[in-house]
This record gives sequence, C-alpha cells and structure tokens, in this order.
Amino acid sequence: MTDTTQQLIRREKDTFLGEENPFEAMMSRFDYAAELLNLDAGLYKVLRNPEKQIIVSIPVQMDTGEVEVFTGYRVLYNTSRGPAKGGIRFDLNVTLEEVKALAAWMTWKCAVVNIPFGGSKGGVICDPTTMSAGELERLTRRYTSGIIETLGPDSDVPAPDVNTNERVMAWVMDTYSMHKRHTVTAVVTGKPVEMGGSQGRREATGRGCMIVTREALKHLGMPLGGARVVVQGFGNVGSVTAELLQKEGCTIVAVSDVAGGIYNPKGLDVKDVMEWRASHRYVTGYTKAEGVTNDELLTLDCDVLVPAALENVITSRNAGDIKAKVIIEGANGPTAAGADEILDRKGIFVVPDILANAGGVTVSYFEWVQDRGGYFWSEETVNRRLTEIMVHSFHNVLDVSKRYGVNMRIAAYTLAIDRVAAVHRLRGMYA
Ligand code: NAD
Repeated sequence: MTDTTQQLIRREKDTFLGEENPFEAMMSRFDYAAELLNLDAGLYKVLRNPEKQIIVSIPVQMDTGEVEVFTGYRVLYNTSRGPAKGGIRFDLNVTLEEVKALAAWMTWKCAVVNIPFGGSKGGVICDPTTMSAGELERLTRRYTSGIIETLGPDSDVPAPDVNTNERVMAWVMDTYSMHKRHTVTAVVTGKPVEMGGSQGRREATGRGCMIVTREALKHLGMPLGGARVVVQGFGNVGSVTAELLQKEGCTIVAVSDVAGGIYNPKGLDVKDVMEWRASHRYVTGYTKAEGVTNDELLTLDCDVLVPAALENVITSRNAGDIKAKVIIEGANGPTAAGADEILDRKGIFVVPDILANAGGVTVSYFEWVQDRGGYFWSEETVNRRLTEIMVHSFHNVLDVSKRYGVNMRIAAYTLAIDRVAAVHRLRGMYA
C-alpha cells in the first residue's frame, strides 16, 4: 500500500529535529500548506527534497603564505519554474541544513512574487571580518570554480547575501566569464551598476519591506504616519527599510546590529545613525539614544517590528513578550516554527519572509532581464515595477489567507507551493 500525504507528514513529524533547525522550520510550514492543498503523495515527496546539493573544499593561500581549506555549499532546491536563483553567504555559522532551507525559501519566494525562477543558495564557512580583500577574492574565485558546472544565466544565478556584496558578485562574474571565454553579465545579480547591475538593486529588499509595511498597515487600518518601528539588523536590508519607512513618516524608535541596539522613544534620525555607523563600525555608542541588547530590542513597545538580521530570533521562548502589532520579516527565517501559534494567538499580523523580503529577488530578476536584453531601465522604472509586484503579491497572499482562514505565512506557502506543483504537473516526470 502506498503512503498518503498525511502518513508522510506524520512520519516527518516523528523525526522532527527541533524548532531551531532551519530546514525543519521551513518544512513544518510546508507540511501545513501541503495538507491544505491536498498535495498528492508523489509531489509531496518531490517538493520536500532538494534537486542537487554540492559540497566543495576550497583551498586558499592566506596572506601569511599558509594554505587554509574552507568548506562551501551550493544547493539547487527546485528549478521547475526556471533557473535557480539564490544568494551566497559567507559566515562561520553556515551549515548544509541552513543552505538547504534558504534554497527552499528562495523557491517559494520566487513563486510568491511569480517570477520565472527556481530556488538555490550558497554558503561558505568562514569569518570574512578577519580576512583581507585578497583572501576574500581568492576564496570567492576558487568557490566559484568549484561550483561552476551548475552556474549560468539559464541554470543557476547567485546574488549577494549576508557578508557578500557587489564586489564579491563582480569576482564571481569575472571568474565565470574567464572560464566561458566571454563576458557573461547575467550569471549573477547584485553586481555594480557599471558592469550590468540594475539601478535600485541595492535598496530593493528594504524598499520591498517598506512597501509591504505600507500595505499591511493600510489593511489593518493603522496609520503609517507616526507608526513606531523597531528594526533588528542595520545592514543592507535593515538600514534601507528604516530609512524608507522614516521617509514615509514612521518613527524609528530602535535599531541594532551584531554589537547591540540603540533606543530613543522620540525617534532616531536614520541618516545620522548611518553616518555614526560609517565612522564607528557599529550603531552602538550612538550618543542620541540609550543602549539596548538585541534580546531587549525585540520586545520593545512598538507598532512594527522588522527582524532584518538572522534566523531564529523570535522563538517560542520570547514570542509571548513581543509587543509589536505587525512583524515584517526582512531576514530569512527570523521566526522559528514554534513561535507562529503564539504570535497568532496574540493577534500579531506577520508578513512572512518569503513575501516581505522578496523585493531583492524581484529586482534581481529585473537585472537578469536587463542583462539579457542589453537594455537598461531608469531607477524610476525599476521602483515602479517593483512596487506593482510587491503590492500585487501582498494582496494575492491576503486573498489566500482569507480563502483558507490561515495566517499570512501559511497563505504565502500555500500560494507558492500551488504554483510550483502546477508546473510539476504540467511538465510531468522524466523517467
Ligand atoms: P548584511 O550583512 O548587510 O547585514 C546584516 C546585519 O545584521 C548587520 O547589521 C549585522 O551587524 C547584523 N547582525 C548580524 N548578526 C546579528 C545578531 N546576532 N544580532 C543582531 N544583528 C546581527 O545582510 P543583509 O543583506 O542585510 O541580510 C540580512 C537578512 O536579510 C538575512 O537573513 C538575509 O538572508 C536576508 N535577505 C537579504 C536580501 C538582500 O537583498 N540583501 C534579500 C532577502 C533576504
């Protein structure tokens, strides 16, 4: 007798590795949506497994002359809807489980905003803060050559993620192009504008977070002007979200980075904090605010909380203490699965990561389209098209949430999995 989807889901629950395992966190939401959709058992099994997982050893000659060997991963989770798309992360905490989860999230994220990509992710276990520019360049190039067979504008297109940036993307693009013997701009996105990058890409994720915040507050009947906002993480996503929400009239009461947070109930001047960070490396020590820890910051009294740093910061341990009415997930996976129910019970409206931070991949898609067409758009065009997609996607997810009577996270998974499954059914199975 073949197993039903329900039996398969029950078996997966029995081998659950804990709420803080990022792949499990992603999969427990996947299971919920699969049940709602009545996904057949075959497709359930296909979509629960990554298509391809690559592990590479990366020898790098360090500035001292010694050779270090780093470990890198690239996971292509699903490519049914188009080339795989996903960032590269350099971090000491990178694990294969995390990269798998992030690659799956990319699959669902591209489907939520309905762009023609599958999902992938890469990561290298390293501490880039202790490495010189030369060491980082050698690491990037050797990692790129290690995964080069999967890369390509039609197969797998990286982008920046935690601790990688435009500079790193330029090295990936150059290494790939040297192997191909011609310049291939569309192999990565998030490149410098001078070499095929898109206007508006750097700000795109934060801009997307701002747009969905605006839609969420409108939906809830809460005024945007004067809304009190707390942002965790003051990197690419967090700082731009804070800056744009302040321009929309919100009061940014607290921000933080890896070193800690700063809080001023009367509001922070985000530009001024950016200048402080530029000269002091971290936001901590900023003189016009009081210091708070990252844990305290999450439970501050505010209207909107934007976790925009790392995974698993909102868990079953602290979810009960959160005072925000709305959570906008700028980071990937900031909420552990065990916290969902607690947040629901408290009536907190959560715009999930696969919708809230999809602005970045949306403008990456625009960049890929522009590179392939060799015709570049103005920043105004990029921002207008991004706004259209984010607003439309927010309301698509809201409609699914009302139709099934589920929260926005399960609605986003349901919409995404339905779209990916539909393509699998149409394509059939190559045997
Ligand atoms: P980033 O490296 O530019 O910034 C990360 C920020 O988080 C920094 O301010 C850092 O100090 C802070 N941080 C690191 N560890 C922390 C900790 N333990 N506690 C508090 N703060 C901490 O990275 P980013 O590109 O802004 O990415 C942030 C998150 O957004 C990640 O989850 C990433 O996957 C996700 N994301 C990024 C993009 C993008 O386009 N950059 C797109 C979608 C999702």
